[in-house]
Parts: sequence; structure tokens; C-alpha cells
Amino acid sequence: MNLLPSSVLWRQILKTNLTHWERLADFLELSSEQRVRIDPNANFKLNIPLRLAKKIKKGDLNDPLLNQFLPKLQEKESRLAFVDDPTGDTFCQRTPKLLHKYHGRALLVCTSACAMHCRYCFRQNYPYEISGHTFHAEIDEIASDPTLSEIILSGGDPLSLSDKTLKNLFDRLSEIKHIRRIRIHTRFPIGIPERIDANFLKLLEGVNKQIWFVIHSNHPTEFDSDIWDALTKIRKLGIPILNQSVLLQNVNDDIETLKSLCQQLVDHGISPYYLHQLDRVKGTSHFEVPEEKGRLLIGELRKQLSGYAIPLYVREISGELSKTPL
Ligand code: SF4
Repeated sequence: MNLLPSSVLWRQILKTNLTHWERLADFLELSSEQRVRIDPNANFKLNIPLRLAKKIKKGDLNDPLLNQFLPKLQEKESRLAFVDDPTGDTFCQRTPKLLHKYHGRALLVCTSACAMHCRYCFRQNYPYEISGHTFHAEIDEIASDPTLSEIILSGGDPLSLSDKTLKNLFDRLSEIKHIRRIRIHTRFPIGIPERIDANFLKLLEGVNKQIWFVIHSNHPTEFDSDIWDALTKIRKLGIPILNQSVLLQNVNDDIETLKSLCQQLVDHGISPYYLHQLDRVKGTSHFEVPEEKGRLLIGELRKQLSGYAIPLYVREISGELSKTPL
């Protein structure tokens, strides 16, 4: 039996993440031929929760979960169209931590920390200037703009923040009359569902704005019963949950994987929201799936699943005023 208070437990679990490639290679029993394909000096460091590492097939360098987290030498391949900031985040900064791209919504880059490092992350080069977690300038900026009705908490992963910091943030946003909704974008529960503990649920319950919870998962094997249980607890508070995926080569670019992911999500009351075309961030070209293939996959999903189980296939184009449906 675990006797740690829940607020300490998730932090203890976070410390067990695998962050050194040799430890992961040993854990997965990779051969010496397989190890030479790993990049030991990747800028964006390896970081994978033990829970996810345990779901990877031993000795399989092409496991779809491992492909999402292992820095491989392929990342050194450079292609012109693949850049540091493919979504134009740095052109939309109202403050270094507040991005305003779309009408009515602004995004708060709450933290640079995540429960895991996904190799295709479009914000892996973001110039994070997160000193302290007070957000005074951002709250003032939001309060001064009545055209904003929704704030997206993102990062990094906002669930990396302590409950105390989150409560502060929720309290400050709750004081702003024109803010109607707070959206939380997180991948934390997929790696460390223990983050959804009693304190956090109580915190969510006390927020006087509507909350939308948006998780990020790409493959059905990411899930287990602890994760579903944690997400169900959130849903039982009346909070809608959506999922975003990225279409990734050798991860989820086949009909059976996408179909199984969408089915599992709707089975648990979660809406498949977006399937994103890869954002062209430097070092990720090996993940790109041609748009034509993506369209065929969505067409096939449409034949096999109910309409509400089909995500919207979109690309983010820097400077556009909304995501572009493909
Ligand atoms: S959890 Fe999200 S923000 Fe963090 S590395 Fe993965 S995709 Fe990027």
C-alpha cells in the first residue's frame, strides 16, 4: 500500500522517469546494433514515464510508443521546410508567456516542464522565459482585453505546476468577467495518471468558469485502466474531455490503429477532436505522413465509425486565423 500523500506521490513518480538513453536501452533490452541508431546528444532530452516505457515491446526499436520518445539519429536529417518555430508562436506573443493567434482565445505558456518529451513536439524550441509562476503581466493583459472569452492553459504541460500555482491561476482568471472558459491542454494523465488526485479534482470542482480538458494521445496502447479511471473522475465533475492526436509515420498512420484509438476514446466518453498534420519542426521530417494518405485514412474512418468518433484532420498554418481542415 502506498502511504504517500497523493500530492507528493505524482512528484515521486515523475522522478522515476527514464531520462538517460542507456537506462532506457537496457530496460528495453536493445541490441548493440539497435543502440547505434540512438542519438545520445539530442538537444531535446529523452524523458519518458516508466508507465509508458513498460508498455513498449522489449527489443523492438520500431515500437509505436518508443518511436514517439526515443531520440534517433534520423533527427539530424535537415530539410529546408522544417524549422524551429513552424506554427509562428513567437510572432503571436503578447507577452513571452501569452500567445494570441485566434479570435476570442489566448494561450498561456504556463511552464516549460512536461511529464514526457515527445520527439515531434512543435514547441520543443520555444524560448521559454518562465521565471516564477505568478503570471501578473499575463493576467493584466487578459483582463484588459474584453474580446477574449477563453484562455488555454498550455506549455509545456500545465499539470506540471503545483496545485497551489494552478489554484492561484484559476482564482485570478475567475475574477475576469469576460473570461467564460478555461481550457487545459495536457498529456500528463497519459504518463502519470496519479496527477489526477483528490486535491486536483477538488481544485477543478472549485473553479467558477467552465473548464474543458483536452488530452493528447496518439496510440491506443498508451492507455490503461488507471488512465481511464483518472479521466472518468474528471468527466464525472461535468468537465468535457477531448483528445488531440498528431498523425505520425510509424506510430499511427494506419487505419486499424486510428480506428482503435477513436473507438477507445468514445467508449470512455472522450471526443476525438483533432488529428493534426505534423507541424514541420526541425528534426521531425521522418514523422511526416503525406496529406493524401491522411485524407484516405480519415475517409476510411468515416466508413467504419460514427460521425462523432471521427477527429477533424487539420494543419496549422502560421499566420492563419484558424486551423485549416484538410
Ligand atoms: S507533452 Fe506536449 S508540450 Fe510536452 S513535449 Fe509532449 S507534445 Fe510537447
